[in-house]
Amino acid sequence: MRDSPPIYLHNSLTGKKEEFIPQDEKNVRMYVCGPTVYAPPHIGNMRPVVVFDVLYRLLRWKYGADHVTYVRNITDVDDKIIEAARERNVDIGVLTKEVEKEFNDECEKLGALPPDETPHATDYIPQMQDLVKRLLDKGVAYQAGGEVLFDISKYANYGALSGRTLEEQEAGARVAVAKHKRNAGDFVLWKPAPADEPGWDSPWGRGRPGWHLECSAMSHTHFGESFDIHGGGQDLIFPHHENERAQTCAAFGSNREMANYWLHNGYVLSEGKKMAKSEGNTLLPNELPSDPSSALMRWVFLSSHYKKPFDINLHSIQIARNEWKNLYSTVGRAFYNKGYSSEESKNFWDEAKEISPDTELLNALCDDLNTPLAITHLRALAKEIRKDCREKTLEEKSLQNFVSSIRWLDPFFKDVEHILEASDIRGAKLIESKLTDRRNAREVQNWELADQIRDELAEEGIQIEDNERGTWWESPNGGCGIVLNTPYLDSE
Ligand SMILES: [Zn+2]
Repeated sequence: MRDSPPIYLHNSLTGKKEEFIPQDEKNVRMYVCGPTVYAPPHIGNMRPVVVFDVLYRLLRWKYGADHVTYVRNITDVDDKIIEAARERNVDIGVLTKEVEKEFNDECEKLGALPPDETPHATDYIPQMQDLVKRLLDKGVAYQAGGEVLFDISKYANYGALSGRTLEEQEAGARVAVAKHKRNAGDFVLWKPAPADEPGWDSPWGRGRPGWHLECSAMSHTHFGESFDIHGGGQDLIFPHHENERAQTCAAFGSNREMANYWLHNGYVLSEGKKMAKSEGNTLLPNELPSDPSSALMRWVFLSSHYKKPFDINLHSIQIARNEWKNLYSTVGRAFYNKGYSSEESKNFWDEAKEISPDTELLNALCDDLNTPLAITHLRALAKEIRKDCREKTLEEKSLQNFVSSIRWLDPFFKDVEHILEASDIRGAKLIESKLTDRRNAREVQNWELADQIRDELAEEGIQIEDNERGTWWESPNGGCGIVLNTPYLDSE
């Protein structure tokens, strides 16, 4: 274990920020509820991917990559899947594989590390049936109306996670409660499946599991009855996580919590409303306003605290874009200042991986994953670096500290040209076209025109600096960039 600040996490179960102490620091276990694969993932589905990626990286950094296990399931059997496959007239397996691939592609584009295990619900039917048997044997579940249901009145701790009382469950049940239920909040563990729908033979007839059951079965298979962190979106607190917790704790009967820390990210909003397929306001990654690249999308998510609702709109994307450009162009500026070639800057980046990030940044992340504060620290570091560049006093050590800190949040960087390309600082088209004219003039030794252009730029406060690779420019409002002597070639 690395000597680092303690990690504090907001635990939904206690409603408090608590120091994270794993049950076994050699075997830190995190389970995050993954997608139900029936429709292409929208932006709201991708926020937890980035949030829990930051946590996964932090845990790996502190406890060592070999001592952390991250499990994220795939729900590949569900009424919504059956309905979507029917509508599209495709085989369920074809649909779920297709959507799972789309989801994985989006995760990769966001720079998220893949989980260690990705269990699929349909591979855990025997374990789910075993859970149902246990709950029936203990008298916590009952058979009625062809279903097996969980009796929430038999589990004393029911409602502790979501803070709902049994009475509130009753009062809150606006839809007519099925007559066969003992309590309004009782939920399905196993239900019958018609012959033309997916189903499995069981002691309670051919059927399929209720949604909540799968995560109890999969987390128990991989982690046992109690593990460290259980995560997901805020909408999963109730009923999904409440019910998972009730099933696992009731089935295994010990006094241990299913998970000691429950983490939930806030909603992604679209024009002030929760983004959800049921609201009809979802945005797919390629439908976003102002079309941010996926690398920028990661920053967009990081720019707000994970617990807060996040409204995705032109403004929030623009703010993140500016922040991102500023950091990346500063790296570009510093590498340029040091005279590093593409190869050298790439090596510098690779080596920075082994270096601890800036202490302030680490403190922010350890304090309940405060990514906006971490970004504020990066901004301050960038300011220092730029000052050092101007004064030609930049030390390799401070650049390493800066780069290793950026790397911590953003795994996309490749080399200096790539940064410039990706960070879109070529956006200052007028300045750059003037500089291109100046470069062309210099090539044909038209010094008069070259000087005239330089003077025009200077009048606008734009500073330029030439070296063998090209011309660096910086404007008074913080814009900057490079016009290279040889055009950028993508080496990928
Ligand atoms: Zn789950």
